[in-house]
Amino acid sequence: MNHSVRRTHLPSPSEDPQETPDMHYQKYHPIDVVNGPGTRCTLFVSGCVHKCPGCYNASTWNANSGHPFTPALADRIVADLQDAQIPRRGLTLSGGDPLYPGNCPSVQALVRRVKAECPGKDIWLWTGYVLEALDCAQRAVLPYIDVLVDGPFVQALADRRLQLCGSSNQRIIPHPARRLGEGA
Ligand code: SF4
Repeated sequence: MNHSVRRTHLPSPSEDPQETPDMHYQKYHPIDVVNGPGTRCTLFVSGCVHKCPGCYNASTWNANSGHPFTPALADRIVADLQDAQIPRRGLTLSGGDPLYPGNCPSVQALVRRVKAECPGKDIWLWTGYVLEALDCAQRAVLPYIDVLVDGPFVQALADRRLQLCGSSNQRIIPHPARRLGEGA
């Protein structure tokens, strides 16, 4: 996944009464210029099974770590993407792994909503899975994703010159659903 330095950080909202127990997140950055092109909103979710040696984000592996992802936070992300005062190019989903199996329903609901309510905004998603190995629930997210960055972090292939990847095995894949021949 992308291990670039995150310069923008806002303390995470918490203690929302409308909690959805199926996904947790670590941080939400409403204004982010390092995790993808342009100015973006970025959500770092909890949960990752890959346990890559050298991972910078081991604190995200536990799917119950961080904060519950709530409807209120989904509302805020949509509102931030619609904010005309600080135009965002799109939404970045990273982690942890947004395609951790327990995260897929919440992530799918979020990206569907963003595509419906935030026209013109792109969605980038970083996952430790390889595109071709995704299961049905993970593939159901892909039609809403403009760019997928796939593959685990491989320490032997780490390359600091890469701006959007941590290691050279990782691929930047536009329209991943089309790549699989599943339309988009
Ligand atoms: S996929 Fe990313 S978050 Fe998960 S262990 Fe590998 S580097 Fe860490």
